[in-house]
Amino acid sequence: MAKQQSTSEKSSQKDGRKCNKCGEITQPTLYVSINKVSDVYKFSEKRIKICKCNEKEFLS
Ligand SMILES: [Zn+2]
Repeated sequence: MAKQQSTSEKSSQKDGRKCNKCGEITQPTLYVSINKVSDVYKFSEKRIKICKCNEKEFLS
């Protein structure tokens, strides 16, 4: 019996997702924001998805 290879590639489920507003594939990006709290800088990392709708907010 030949072993069946499971070649079920998740080609339709990549990291990039289509934005339902503009139809662009969103780019998963690590966004680092710096907040100064009582003379201490705090870095907070966020995973965001950038597309045409919000790229100006983050890539300014
Ligand atoms: Zn969009």
